[in-house]
Amino acid sequence: MALIRLDHVTKYYRNRLALSDVSLAFEPSEWVFITGPSGAGKSTLLRLVSLAERPTRGRVEAEPGMRRAIGMLGQEFRLLADRNVYENIAIACRIAGVWEREEIRQRVTPLLDEMGLRSMEGLFPGELSAGEKQRVALARALVRHPRILIADEPTGNLDPPAAAQIFSLMRQYRDRETLVLVATHVEDWTQRHPGRVIRLEQGVVHSDAPGPEPSGASRPDGTPRPDAAGGI
Ligand code: ADP
Repeated sequence: MALIRLDHVTKYYRNRLALSDVSLAFEPSEWVFITGPSGAGKSTLLRLVSLAERPTRGRVEAEPGMRRAIGMLGQEFRLLADRNVYENIAIACRIAGVWEREEIRQRVTPLLDEMGLRSMEGLFPGELSAGEKQRVALARALVRHPRILIADEPTGNLDPPAAAQIFSLMRQYRDRETLVLVATHVEDWTQRHPGRVIRLEQGVVHSDAPGPEPSGASRPDGTPRPDAAGGI
């Protein structure tokens, strides 16, 4: 069962065509790259999947309530400058209606550990490096246990080591049934973290290459699968 499905979706901004007749389905646990040059429609596709915008034509189908089960990560960190690390993450719980102090702590603390932020929980965004800020933003996106994580150029403002760390952390999280959609124009990441790669060009799906099967997987006849990650 697809988690979210786009059915012949076309999106115009005024008279500017951003996406043209796009049909795609996404499953739980998928790791999906959206690639393509600037202006190809990557951000538009993510805004439609996140249910933040509606298509001009066609349908975006998701279960009721899915909107609240989506975590977002962008190029900008968008942290609250006057709240510390812990509060920046906890606030996402409150927005989701979780107010009980102990429950918030039980959600935030493991993420602080996972993101390597435990010793920084009392610091303010101005005291953090770009990579640390993005790890706070990732924790904030994950604290509601999203079914879909949407990341639009999440490493655009990071140096290579910090970028690699963010990708590893997102990759780890995918192992928990979460669909992860990452838009990037940096093709290198698709090699380093193989997955399904959807390439957009001028608003159309130019290619959609499935990711490799989990290790050890084989075809029904027992022969090993070729690595499908290379795409076309
Ligand atoms: P990408 O993320 O691949 O760079 P976008 O989805 O941002 O591409 O943009 C696709 C096309 O839609 C571009 O031609 C862009 O100028 C246009 N577009 C995107 N957002 C808007 C908007 N809010 N208003 C007008 N045009 C937009």
